[in-house]
Amino acid sequence: MLPRTSCLDRPLSWVRKIASLPCVRPSRLVSPSVAASGGKRVAVAVRAVIALAIGGVAAGETVLGDDAAETPRVIRRSDVVFMYDNPALYEAYGCTVMGWAGRADREHIAGAHQKGVRVFASSVGFRTEFAGMIDFSPRFAEARCLNFAGEPFIVPWLWDHKHKGEPAWWFCTNSPLYRSYLRQRLERVVASGADALHIDDYTGTAGAVTWLDACFCPDCMKGFREYLRSRYDAAQLREWGVADLYAFDYGAFLRQQGITPDRYHKERTKLPLAEAFLDFHVRSVTDFVAEFRREGERLKGGPLPLAVNSNLNGPMNLAITPHLGYFCCELDHRAASREVPLQPVYAYKLADGLHRSVTSTASGGDWAYINEHRLPGLVRTWAALSYAFGHNLMAPHRMWCYTQQKGTHWYSGPTEEYVWLYRFVREHADLFDAFEAAAPLAVLYDNHSQRQGKGSIQDIVRTLADANVPFAVVVQGDDWLPGYRITGETLARYRLLVVPADLQPDSELAALLQAETEQGRAVVWSDVAAIQARLGEPVRVQGTDRVLVVPRVRTGQGGSTLAVHLLNRAYRKEDDRMDPRPPFQVLLSPDVLGRPAETFRKATLYAPRVEPVEVRLQGVEKGLQIEVPGLDFWSIVELQ
Ligand SMILES: [Zn+2]
Repeated sequence: MLPRTSCLDRPLSWVRKIASLPCVRPSRLVSPSVAASGGKRVAVAVRAVIALAIGGVAAGETVLGDDAAETPRVIRRSDVVFMYDNPALYEAYGCTVMGWAGRADREHIAGAHQKGVRVFASSVGFRTEFAGMIDFSPRFAEARCLNFAGEPFIVPWLWDHKHKGEPAWWFCTNSPLYRSYLRQRLERVVASGADALHIDDYTGTAGAVTWLDACFCPDCMKGFREYLRSRYDAAQLREWGVADLYAFDYGAFLRQQGITPDRYHKERTKLPLAEAFLDFHVRSVTDFVAEFRREGERLKGGPLPLAVNSNLNGPMNLAITPHLGYFCCELDHRAASREVPLQPVYAYKLADGLHRSVTSTASGGDWAYINEHRLPGLVRTWAALSYAFGHNLMAPHRMWCYTQQKGTHWYSGPTEEYVWLYRFVREHADLFDAFEAAAPLAVLYDNHSQRQGKGSIQDIVRTLADANVPFAVVVQGDDWLPGYRITGETLARYRLLVVPADLQPDSELAALLQAETEQGRAVVWSDVAAIQARLGEPVRVQGTDRVLVVPRVRTGQGGSTLAVHLLNRAYRKEDDRMDPRPPFQVLLSPDVLGRPAETFRKATLYAPRVEPVEVRLQGVEKGLQIEVPGLDFWSIVELQ
């Protein structure tokens, strides 16, 4: 059924708004539109020179070209990733990647390689290694973060940890002393022969700005002073009430205006220089981590791919992306809902748009729930979901659990509940590795809008996935996310671009969207029916319900091959089992097939723990129909 008004009829509010948008925000030296031009490299170079000259923690612009999307793939779609090390289980699961391991030595890593582990990443924890820092220097207290009240604070979720009588202090990644400790850890990681570097809690001090009122330590005050000096002239600073930058202390500046810690906590975003202070912290940690990885590569004398624990949620958690090999992170799976979650699809699709893999675990809260209620059937749907979307949920043999009451504890997933699922992936690697999402539709993620609290695509993504509409996410970066620019060429790959209604694009993107809209290739999101009015139904399921269909395509010399993932969403909360789906049909439109329906000759259905079977294919008026004999949990139909 069509909606009364199609999304095409709605006014393009973002096009009209653009005329009144300032090109350069007060806290920026370079507008995104300038950033995309040749002017960017000059501005970046100048800023890099300033940053080098002043040294310390000054945050220069990330020195990076326009090719952030082009990075060698580290993770294969068929990889089986462990969060923590356990050589006794490598073979059972078919482990190929160590995601988050601690302090293995050279001999151990060589042994892992011999047992099939291709990528052994070693982890440095920017917030979890407080014990190491306390042992590292008797002056450790000087490296602690300070909040607006001038007090040190602990990492909130490590409240149950102690070392030598000290709690888990949150140390400042802008402190030269703490950086010395981290540098020593990096040297050990490189000396161990690790293939990749993982950083847990890589946002360090920047991650404490918006909720823990940090950081006002002397090193951050010095760094912020230098940040302001490198970006603004004296007249601009005087306008903000900064008379003398040489003696400027942001904390003191606010206190002189009568700001109390309580007010700071409640009104931070509205206070003078708040945006600049956050910008300073984000750039500072991004630059530090980027330099940390480069230093690792210098020490190693070769590539050292970087992975971080970022949930991809919001611009602050994406700023590191251009420097990343892949994400290795925690994603919320809403275990307590006892439903097959669609929430992770947002991270998977956004990561595709960023050209990075997501090796993920669920959140500490999710695993605590699974541990308490013993729900391997639910966890298996999480794993299948990740692989269906081209990413890798870690094998759940040892997962970090956390609740406010119990603190840290562990879930050791029973091997027999999970190994067959991961073995299925390993044994059919050729159904995963070279396949990309088949997507006639693209959804626009715009970082510039997101930083203004606009342009969210989470609901759009969830709604499209729920309705089996195949789509991609295309990413427009900005000065926090350089190297991602959408062009007409990007958009030519899709039949339609979907744009959030409240988008606040910069002038360059607005012009592109205007042109695309005039040619009928971009629409403002309203609902699925409006999309279907334009594209028809690229995927349709007949004869049953609650089946998620994810078509993936591999382009080869003999024409495209499809791997169509079928996931049963009929999970029975009461007994942790799937409600099997009866026989049904899947119809794929020419948009998804990529070649004429009649050229597909063979369909083979693969599923865990059963032999592959051939299934019937039939050309129909609007594409190709697959006869699926039923669905237990997860199947893949290969179309050749
Ligand atoms: Zn600090």
